[in-house]
This record gives sequence, structure tokens and C-alpha cells, in this order.
Amino acid sequence: MPALLHDVDRNTAATEHEVVIAGGGPTGLMLAGELALAGIDVAIVERRPSQELIGARAGGLHSRTIELLDQRGIADRFLAAGQKAQVAAFAGTRLDISDFPTRHPYGLGLWQNQIERLLAEWVGELTVTIYRGRDVTGFVQNDAGVDVALSDGQSLRAEYLVGCDGGRSTIRKAAGIEFPGWNPTTSAIIAEVEMATVPELGMRHDAIGTHGFSRMEYEIRDGTVVYKDEGPVRVMVTEQRVGSTSEPTLRDLSEALIVVYGTDYGVHSPRWISRFTDMTRQAASYRAGRVLLAGDAAHVHAPDGGQGLNTGVQDAVNLGWKLAQVVKRTSPDSLLDSYHAERHPVGARVLRNTMAAVALRRPDERTTALRDTIAELLQMDEPRKRLAAELTGLGIQYDLGTGHPLLGRRMPDLDLITDNGPLRVFSLLHGARPVVLNFGEPAGLSVSAWADRVQKVDANYDGTWELPVIGAVTAPAALLVRPDGYVAWVGDQTSAGLEDALMKWFGSPTAAH
Ligand SMILES: Cc1cc2nc3c(=O)[nH]c(=O)nc-3n(C[C@H](O)[C@H](O)[C@H](O)COP(=O)(O)OP(=O)(O)OC[C@H]3O[C@@H](n4cnc5c(N)ncnc54)[C@H](O)[C@@H]3O)c2cc1C
Repeated sequence: MPALLHDVDRNTAATEHEVVIAGGGPTGLMLAGELALAGIDVAIVERRPSQELIGARAGGLHSRTIELLDQRGIADRFLAAGQKAQVAAFAGTRLDISDFPTRHPYGLGLWQNQIERLLAEWVGELTVTIYRGRDVTGFVQNDAGVDVALSDGQSLRAEYLVGCDGGRSTIRKAAGIEFPGWNPTTSAIIAEVEMATVPELGMRHDAIGTHGFSRMEYEIRDGTVVYKDEGPVRVMVTEQRVGSTSEPTLRDLSEALIVVYGTDYGVHSPRWISRFTDMTRQAASYRAGRVLLAGDAAHVHAPDGGQGLNTGVQDAVNLGWKLAQVVKRTSPDSLLDSYHAERHPVGARVLRNTMAAVALRRPDERTTALRDTIAELLQMDEPRKRLAAELTGLGIQYDLGTGHPLLGRRMPDLDLITDNGPLRVFSLLHGARPVVLNFGEPAGLSVSAWADRVQKVDANYDGTWELPVIGAVTAPAALLVRPDGYVAWVGDQTSAGLEDALMKWFGSPTAAH
């Protein structure tokens, strides 16, 4: 139990945790895992009574998210359950990344319910409390902590509360954080249904928009999706009108199908019916005191490019280790400001590219001409690589100053030779602990004052250093890699700047911990 909490006045006996996460979707689960790995007492409050997810949402993972899972040693679970494919696409143009310098030059087709099941299994192996079947209804924060109110009348006391509670986030609203952006311009109903006559599977574009029939179960053969012959049909149909606020019904679906196809194909027995739009908004701040936002709670946008879940999981990996260090008092509270500083611009880019993709989806002939022009440009290597790096997350560079191109970018998963034999860089990150990699003289660098927090590995690497889009870069003499896999310091032949970087990211060596 954190000492700080003993000092706090309480009217009721609240259960205490160091961190409470509202929402156990992909973002909340990933964050809980990251905090638990760092030894933090973390609890999730989740509205759903089980992890079961009604409705299909995200259809897969991009390369950088697979890398992040690899950094924690759990990528194989996801790769075994899904299907590798070139999933990155912009406005209908497939962006092949098979030539990217990563161990995972592809995406993974895997439905969100499976992604959540695997994340929940991982979290289940760590020490995380999950309060299921209840809502966070509000909170009160003061200098010492946050009182979190639950719908069953219970209350929890935490040092920090993270809202991972989706696009309609209660936490964001209660924190008074603005959510500026753009109202929807398109709206589509999606559903999983039975049909008396099964239509031809595939996409259709017309004056109303994009529509399609598919099946949840599919195989990827030679890069092509081949749907199973049987099973319920997955429908997506763009609606004529935007702005409906009620939950869509079977009748709404039937009517929308008749408008587009002239028939509803005898649609019946829906497993679920849902609606999505291109509403595009981003939290003005990812932090309000002891309350933080991550995932859809911080950003919503059209599903084009399949980036929502991926961005949320990556928010969680950026935030987890920072929050853990602040809770453990190894770093000052101000470290949390770097979460907004790094992730808000990434979210803003996602909003930008999804808005562009939606604009290019418009069915009129001028937009079609523009889309075709962009598609031609994307056949060229440089534009393809740049956009693919953005959509897959491989091109992210946090603003950690100027210098070597690796600074602020993802550390490649190199095959190193060490005194303990060969090892992959990512295996050093399984415990979410930072590492200094020294490719120079073994005695040349010392991190002994941070030895309780930072690993140091003397290594050899003879291959080329290659980054997505950028290509080959000069081999560095030493590197500091943060727990999220981003490079925080690059050394030449000296250790100049290393202590400052260690202090900035991992706290003062004399701090109590
Ligand atoms: C049609 C469609 C297709 C998509 N395709 C993709 C794709 O291919 N790739 C991709 O990356 N993304 C995709 N997305 C987006 C993706 O589904 C979301 O970005 C992702 O689910 C966000 O995860 P999250 O954990 O932040 O939020 P959510 O998944 O919304 O999870 C929030 C959780 O919080 C719980 N909750 C809500 N309020 C409370 C409360 N007050 N108290 C307690 N619990 C609460 C909810 O029950 C839920 O479990 C798609 C979305 C749609 C609609």
C-alpha cells in the first residue's frame, strides 16, 4: 500500500490501488500489463461482465504493434492466432511493407475479440485486479490522490486514474477535458446477420458510399482474402443520412440495404448491429492532474487504415513505464507530461490521415480522379514507404532532440552477440526495463548509479543499421533504449550526455525507491 495514501482523509473505507484504469478494452489491458510488469498495484474497472466483445471492431494489428508485443515476449501468441498479410492501405491502395527492415514486415489479420482475449490472458498471468460488470461513474482528485466512484456504490482510492474507457469516455468528460474536432460526414451500419439469399461477397462503391459483404471467418491465400463458404454474413452499408443518435435496428439495416442494393436479401437473426462514423476528435490534453487518457478516450476517427486499436495500445506502452516510475517515486510527476508531448502529435497525425482517407473515399468523379492520382503516386517507393511507415507506426519519431537518426525512433530488433551468447535486442525489453547497449570498449560506459533500474549490456553487432524509410544509418557506439523500445540517447565514442538522459528518463540516482 503506498505510504502517501495513509495521509488522505476518507469518509468511506475505499479499496486502495496505486493505479486504477477505467475500461478493460485493448488499451486498458495493455496498460495494466505494462504497470503490472513494473510491479505496480493496478486495477481495471470494466463495464462488461466478461471479456466477451459484442460486435467486430478492429480487424488486426500493424507492424509496430506486433513489435511492441514482441518486446514483451508475447507476439508469438498473436501470430499463432492470426494471419499475416499486407494489411496497410490508404484510400484503397495497398501499401506493401515486405521490404521494411523489421522482423515483422507485415500486419496481422486478427479480430479484436481475439486480440482482447490474448491480452486478457497475458494480464491474467500478471498481478492485476479486475472489477468487472461495473462502471466508473465519476471521480474526485486532490493533491494526494483520486477517489474513484463505481456504479455498485463502492469506491476506489488511487494515486492515478487512467481513462481507457473508449470514445464516450466518462473520465474525459468528468475531468473537463475538451474534445475538439469534426462532426461526422459519413455513417455506416455494420452487422453480423443471416440472409435468406447470400449476396456476392466483396466491396461495392456507388453514389452513396462504400458497402460490402464478407464473413468473419477467412483465410489469406497468396495475399488474397478467401472467405469461408458458410457462416453468418458480415454487412457494412453506408447510410444515406448522417446523424442518427439511436442504436441501429434490424429495420434500419434492412432499409439501408434496400436503398443500396434494391433488396435486403431477407436479412434476419442479427448477432449484433452497430454503427460507425468518421467523427474525428482528439482530447485537448491527455492529462489533467492525476487523471490521464489513453486510446479511444483520447482520440476517435474513422476506421480507415485500421489504426485506432493500434494507436491505443501504443499510447499504453508509452505511458505505462512512465506512470510506474512516478508511482515508485523514481521519477518526478513531470515525467507524465512527456506522455502528452509524445503521443498527442502521433494521434493528431492519425486524425489527419484518416480524414484524408475519408475525403478520398467520396464517390464523385473529381474525388475519384484525385484518388487515382494519389494511387499512382503511391506506386512510387518514397511515397509508399513514408505513408506506410506512418500507418504502421514504424515511422514514429518522438522529439527527443537532434542528433543521430535513431534518437526518438524505435530500436531495431538486432541479433547481438554478447558475453552470454547471441540474443535479440527485444528479449532485453521483456521485463519493460531500460537498457544501455554498449558496442564500444566494455569498460567504457558506466550506469552503476542506476544499476537498480537500468540494464547495461556489452554487445557486438556486425550487420547494417537500417531504419524504415530512412535506410542505412551510421552504427552508433552506444544507445539508451527506453522500456517502450524508443532510443533516448545515442553515444559516439564518449559517454557525453548519458547521465543527463538517464536522469531525465529514469530519475535521479539518489532518489528513494
Ligand atoms: C468498424 C470498426 C472497425 C475498426 N477497425 C480497426 C482496425 O482494423 N484496426 C484498429 O487498430 N482499430 C480499428 N477500430 C478501432 C478500435 O476498435 C478502437 O480504436 C479500439 O477498440 C480502442 O480501444 P480502447 O481500449 O481504447 O477502447 P474500447 O475498445 O472502446 O474499450 C473501452 C472499454 O471501456 C469500457 N467502459 C466504457 N465506459 C466505462 C466506464 N464508465 N466504466 C468502466 N468501463 C467502461 C468498455 O466496456 C470497453 O471495454 C475499428 C473500429 C470500428 C468501429
